Amino acid sequence: MKKQSKFGGLRIGVKLALAFGIQSLLVFVMVSLAYSSSTQAISSNNRTKDERVPAMLAAAEAQDQLLRMQSSIRAYLIFGDDESRQEFEDAQVNFNNAMVELQTVLDSPELIADLQTDFDEILNVAGMMFALRINPMQNEPAQRILAQDASYSYESILDSIEKINVIQQDRDATEQHAKQLVLMTDFQRTFALMNSSLRRYVETGDSVHKFDYETYHNENEEIWTQLAAERDILEREQRNHLDNIIRRRDILEPLPQRMFEIVEGDRTRVDLYLFQTRFLPLINDIQGELDNIVENQIQLLENQLTTSSQTLTDTQIQILIGGGIALLLAIGLAALFQRSMALPITHLTETAVKVRDGDLSVQAPVETSDEIGTLARVFNSMTVQLRELIESLEDRVRDRTQRLETVATMGEQLNSILTLDELLQELVNQTQEKFGYYQVQVYLESANYLILTSASGAANTEKMVVEGHQIPINAKSSLVAKAARTADIVWVENVHNAEAWLANPLLPDTASEMAVPIILEGTVAGVLDVQSNQVASFDDADANLFRFLANQASVAIQNAKLFTEINVARQDAENASNLKTQFLSNMSHELRTPLNAIINMTGFVVDGVMGDVNEDQIDALNKTVDSGQHLLSLINDVLDLTKIEAGMMNIIFEDVDVDAVLNSVMSSGKGLVKNKPIDLQADFPAEGLPHMLGDKRRIRQILLNVLSNAVKYTIEGEIIVSAQAEETNIHIIVKDTGIGIAEEDYARIFQTFTQARNSLDNVVSTGLGLPISKQLVELHGGKIWFESEIGVGSIFHVLFPLSPPISDNIVVLDKNVETQQSIEA
Ligand code: ADP
Repeated sequence: MKKQSKFGGLRIGVKLALAFGIQSLLVFVMVSLAYSSSTQAISSNNRTKDERVPAMLAAAEAQDQLLRMQSSIRAYLIFGDDESRQEFEDAQVNFNNAMVELQTVLDSPELIADLQTDFDEILNVAGMMFALRINPMQNEPAQRILAQDASYSYESILDSIEKINVIQQDRDATEQHAKQLVLMTDFQRTFALMNSSLRRYVETGDSVHKFDYETYHNENEEIWTQLAAERDILEREQRNHLDNIIRRRDILEPLPQRMFEIVEGDRTRVDLYLFQTRFLPLINDIQGELDNIVENQIQLLENQLTTSSQTLTDTQIQILIGGGIALLLAIGLAALFQRSMALPITHLTETAVKVRDGDLSVQAPVETSDEIGTLARVFNSMTVQLRELIESLEDRVRDRTQRLETVATMGEQLNSILTLDELLQELVNQTQEKFGYYQVQVYLESANYLILTSASGAANTEKMVVEGHQIPINAKSSLVAKAARTADIVWVENVHNAEAWLANPLLPDTASEMAVPIILEGTVAGVLDVQSNQVASFDDADANLFRFLANQASVAIQNAKLFTEINVARQDAENASNLKTQFLSNMSHELRTPLNAIINMTGFVVDGVMGDVNEDQIDALNKTVDSGQHLLSLINDVLDLTKIEAGMMNIIFEDVDVDAVLNSVMSSGKGLVKNKPIDLQADFPAEGLPHMLGDKRRIRQILLNVLSNAVKYTIEGEIIVSAQAEETNIHIIVKDTGIGIAEEDYARIFQTFTQARNSLDNVVSTGLGLPISKQLVELHGGKIWFESEIGVGSIFHVLFPLSPPISDNIVVLDKNVETQQSIEA
């Protein structure tokens, strides 16, 4: 035997469970992978939808609002208009909303807090800028220096020079004084011009004004030097004012430079400065942070997409690999199943086909130890059993056939025995001998007793038959009585163990017994009882055999009974037949002999043999002869009919010259026509008709009867008798122009003692002629029939075969034998 794989050793259920389990597990794993990756992709999509995109949108919105704030505050700083301020405030509100949105979609409170801090700072700076924009003193430092630090000194210098001028004008009109006055006026003029140029420069920052200022300043310095040099020639009060100017000039001296620095520096306006130095950086900071958020979200989005697509790709690869593994596994399992299941089944099938085709020597290979292996083993043992069974069956069939043949032969032999006692004795003898039983006997039922009719076997049992051994049908302990009561076969395997069994001292060795009812026309007629001196000698097959024998016995009993009945009946029939024959011979002798004597004697008297007779006497005597002859023919007819009916009409076949018979019939016909106005014609073939085999006398009787009927039932006209040979027959036709036969009477014509209702008054009719003729024609193997029409005439056909069939009651005479052996009565 081939070495089995571990798999081959498993049960089919386990194999299938394993195979499908692994496949299912693989499919489950692949489906789980696909599910998990799709879930990831979906969640990533959802996050994109719910978080990333809104976050980016909110950040972009915030950036947009920041730009609006930036541009609107810039516009406000330039134009100081309410519209720009309103725009700023709207943008601020929108920015806050965007921040709230961002806060809800972005899970990053620190970032939001940072943004919020920056934004608060922006608002703070914006508030400062708004406040500065409407407060130029705060907003523009150069102006403030001009207004606060320089203004008083300028005023004071201009006031002092004015006072010096006034005092000067009141001084003596000397050239020196006049010159001093010009100096003082020039100082006053240039100082005022210098001053206003400076103011213009601070206000506008236009360098033209600075240039003017420096020009006037230099001019004024030059004048001041001259003026200061002449201090001593001024009056005391003038000197005091001049000293005031000196002091004031010292105060003013650094201020323009500071103002120039401011105007030419970047802090000309504090609000713009704040805008540049704080607002814009803050804005840029927030923009940068928002950019970061957007970039971050984009990055996250990209990461997620990458991860999702990576996951999907991975899953695809896993599914591909899993599918490949599943496919390989399926192929492997298919191969495994092919080898461990399909192939063994194929081999098993091939073996089964061989067994079916009659080869019982084949053995199915046991390839696995699973159910198929078991099946193969069981199949093999079944084949062996089958082989043994068939062999033993053949033996048993042979044995049975032998027994059946024996039984059949017995049946044939028994059938030939017609007396019941003899038959039953033979039945038991043969059964006992041929099958070697200890005792075989037949009981017949009679008045609730089963009477031993025949026995064979143990030497002294015949005495029982002679003594009329009998068992009451209700005997409880008798197997025979039980079979009779139940009308069924009963048997005991071992009589010694049987509860109720009637022991017979004459049959001491009986060990087992079988009683078979003999059933005749549905009732138990007797019992066939078979006893063996071995235990368990009987089986169902024996039961069937004995039932068959019992049936044979039943048939034989019936046959014997029938035979007895038939014998009685035949005896009765023979007696009756003898009586009839006696009667017929009586008729023949007792009636015909005296009648013939009457006719003959009367004929002699008419012929004058007995002396003279006158005309009247002759006439009367002729009528007597006619009547006698009629009576004779009637008696002959009745006799014929009786013979035919009794099957005793004997026909003598000989070679018949049909022409001669026809001529004889024609001449008799002429006599019958006598004075009737009937033209009787013959139409026979000139070459003559062939001879036929038949009873010449009866053929003549038939034809004469038909012709005499034609004459009887024709008042006038013609009668044509024609004859012709047709193949193996002779066809004779008698055609008349008589009264014809009505169609409704057709059936009556060939019946005995009946006539057609259409008849003639003077016709004497017995209704026997045609029935007898028909019987005679048929005894010749021929046919008789007619065609007829009322008032037109009748055509009678007689057809004789040339060689009629020979049957009982027919004697064929050899032509050469001279002495004819008449068997007629
Ligand atoms: P019967 O002795 O009365 O002639 P048959 O048996 O010979 O007896 O004929 C039976 C009946 O058939 C007759 O009574 C007659 O009515 C009818 N029959 C027979 N032959 C003829 C015929 N040629 N023409 C008319 N009737 C016929």
